[in-house]
Amino acid sequence: MRTAEIRRRFLDYFAERGHHRVASAPLPTPDPTLLFINAGMVPFKPYFTGEATPPWDRATSVQKCVRTLDIEEVGKTTRHGSFFQMNGNFSFGDYFKEDAIRFAWELSTNPQDQGGYGLDPDRIWATVHHSDDESREIWRRVSGLPDDRIVARGDEDNFWSMGVPGPCGPCSELYYDRGPAYGPAGGPEVDEDRYMEFWNLVFMQYERGAGPGKSGFPILGELPRRNIDTGMGLERMASLLQGVDNLYEIDETRPILDHAAKLTGVRYGADHENDVRLRVIADHVRTGLMLLADGTAPGNEGRGYVLRRILRRAVRATRLLGYQDPALPELLPVARDCMSPSYPELAEEFERISQQAYGEEDAFRKTLKQGTTVLDTAVEKTKADGGSTLAGAQAFLLHDTYGFPIDLTLEMAAEQGVEVDRDGFAALMAEQRERARADARNRKAGAADTAALRTVLDANGPTDWVAYEALETEST
Ligand code: ATP
Ligand code: MG
Ligand code: MG
Ligand code: MG
Repeated sequence: MRTAEIRRRFLDYFAERGHHRVASAPLPTPDPTLLFINAGMVPFKPYFTGEATPPWDRATSVQKCVRTLDIEEVGKTTRHGSFFQMNGNFSFGDYFKEDAIRFAWELSTNPQDQGGYGLDPDRIWATVHHSDDESREIWRRVSGLPDDRIVARGDEDNFWSMGVPGPCGPCSELYYDRGPAYGPAGGPEVDEDRYMEFWNLVFMQYERGAGPGKSGFPILGELPRRNIDTGMGLERMASLLQGVDNLYEIDETRPILDHAAKLTGVRYGADHENDVRLRVIADHVRTGLMLLADGTAPGNEGRGYVLRRILRRAVRATRLLGYQDPALPELLPVARDCMSPSYPELAEEFERISQQAYGEEDAFRKTLKQGTTVLDTAVEKTKADGGSTLAGAQAFLLHDTYGFPIDLTLEMAAEQGVEVDRDGFAALMAEQRERARADARNRKAGAADTAALRTVLDANGPTDWVAYEALETEST
């Protein structure tokens, strides 16, 4: 089943059950705790916290998501995209656990000729929070799952909150057993590649107070209006229904991967390291396309830096596979053709999007050579001095003058057996930001957007990757 069809069936199923169809919000979000939307519930947060009143009791959406936290996983696991689409159904004080579980079970297992996804019920596992006997009982009754495939888990995996006082509650996840080829038996506790999570149901039931972590806070009581927030990974469902090994081989990314293989002359499936690179290319080119389409421009800070990092990683992976010509003019149109059936604006805006992407690749190509020389010299010197850690100042110079995203420096240094002083790099980045802030104060200028980001960064520290990743709050 094609991804576009999986998306259509989801929206139809929930619309038929009284859910209002809501279009995806753009990836860059005004939410001050995030750079990009990372879960389907983000645009609905004010409804869940009670700040705003929802115009409907039920909604459904397919939300574009970017998770910077997962970038390092891309191509290495079978299931993490930097961009992905989260299908969701939401109840604002309307239905609760019983219907949420029933809907997810029905849509997942109803036969394909009856509008469902036709997953084999005997291969589905569910998890519940260990305190949540109610959900266990509903699962038993609604799905007929045997007790040993309803796994109880603790706060770490099965309790949800936004990380601040407000709504919280247990969650329940659905997993699909992909079979012994993917790992050992025993359920999601044992192996999350074999047992792949495809849907998460959040039951917002309690009000929490202040306190750290996943459980270091008091539960103040039951919410007056209980909510449902669910997220089904569209690409994950597609990988199951298309019978492919991983997310990057589904119909919305495989053509990019194949084109990269053709360009570089590398055969996919012949060598693990090359395969990872091909998957990174497929993932990152698509993510770059979606970010550019939503108005993010490459830059040295914040959202722009995420995009820069992603585009440059894709370009570098292509070069490492032996292709030295500009890669994006080859690959980006393929990504557009994969995605424009669901996002027609990609075709309409392609002129602008592609100019920005190709410009970024050109800029990268111009500095890559010089930067590589600088890096190699620094690495040699470090080794000659008997060290194994490249100074933070070198990484900062490469970032600032040669446009090397920090992970490029990390990767290239690692290839030569050298680490990088990340703390030193972060400190220099912080200093630079402080200087920029002082300048901005002097000029009394600065766009609102930048100001909002600054607030976040002030609260969270340095702008290197780790800090951005720390900004991503728990959701769905
Ligand atoms: P995992 O444990 O596999 O990393 P998660 O628990 O972090 O997933 P959730 O935050 O529960 O994921 O998000 C809801 C759903 O979105 C998941 O069940 C999964 O289907 C999908 N999803 C999450 N992260 C990704 C990703 N990086 N790429 C593709 N799909 C994802
Ligand atoms: Mg995750
Ligand atoms: Mg999980
Ligand atoms: Mg989850």
